[in-house]
Amino acid sequence: ESKNEGRNKLKVFDPATLHARQLQRQIVGELREAIRSGQLVLFYQPIVELSTGRIEGCEALVRWNHPVHGLIMPDQFIPVAEATGLIAELGRWVLRTAVGQLRRWRDNPATKQHDFSMRINVSAADLQSLEFVDDVGEALAEESLAPESLVLELTESAIIHNNELDRYTLASLHRLGVGLEIDDFGAGYSSMGYLRKLPVDRVKVDRQFVKDLGKDPSQLGFVAAIQEVIRSCGLEGVWEGIETAEQAEALRSIGCASGQGYYFGRPLPEMEFTEQLARQVVWPA
Ligand code: C2E
Ligand code: MG
Ligand code: MG
Ligand code: MG
Repeated sequence: ESKNEGRNKLKVFDPATLHARQLQRQIVGELREAIRSGQLVLFYQPIVELSTGRIEGCEALVRWNHPVHGLIMPDQFIPVAEATGLIAELGRWVLRTAVGQLRRWRDNPATKQHDFSMRINVSAADLQSLEFVDDVGEALAEESLAPESLVLELTESAIIHNNELDRYTLASLHRLGVGLEIDDFGAGYSSMGYLRKLPVDRVKVDRQFVKDLGKDPSQLGFVAAIQEVIRSCGLEGVWEGIETAEQAEALRSIGCASGQGYYFGRPLPEMEFTEQLARQVVWPA
């Protein structure tokens, strides 16, 4: 995160910054074509039930397999897509691809399990589009998947605009039956009041809170307090950025439900993730 801050500060003669800005301009022109010509790929990262070590789901994370620049990470092109309106098309591609993938895993004898769910990241702009709810419903229906098998991750900033359309879209998605999860909880400056008001089921806590677990002894109490806030709102917590066994163990010891992070597995392309899913248990319970 601190690396990103450094990158965003404008340094006039910094060749790296100059390169980044040239790359950005180029990206706008190429992204539309990239979506259509199949240069985007989804990687999948496991989400683990902490009490059992079982993979309960995965998060789909988009990458751009660029013919010249190689694998470009989402931080480099999602903001550009959002600023140019291309995000709607990108979002539809992610939705279709992730749901199609879930269908293939359900059909594969090595990986089929009923309660394995797919998470996708949804942009603020998607909630502003009236077609979005229909797109989600259609994508699930076409693959004969129950709505609960898809969870939409929404950042705080995407849902606390608190305008009429956002509230309407959220309520419609909730009625459709898809899971709704707040992503990067605690990363912004928003109040916690909305946790009790919005129709969400889960809260994914920002990885900054997991980072100091195992280093700073007082951090576990702090994390337990956050966990208690989430639980008292009737929601389930998902803890991201788990990189060590100590962090996983600490979270489990205070009753946290689910976890995600490099310790359990990095985001992987379809083939590699399928193998991990077939092995199933990633963490000794
Ligand atoms: P996010 O949704 O919060 O996703 C989690 C990010 O943390 C991912 O970065 C993931 O690779 C990374 N991560 C996972 N475990 C660990 C860990 O243990 N330690 C550390 N340091 N990092 C970990 P990634 O894939 O670069 O994605 C960055 C962000 O880009 C995502 O944050 C999400 O906001 C956005 N994004 C990714 N895919 C999509 C997409 O399909 N659509 C939209 N709208 N946004 C996306
Ligand atoms: Mg996410
Ligand atoms: Mg997150
Ligand atoms: Mg994020």
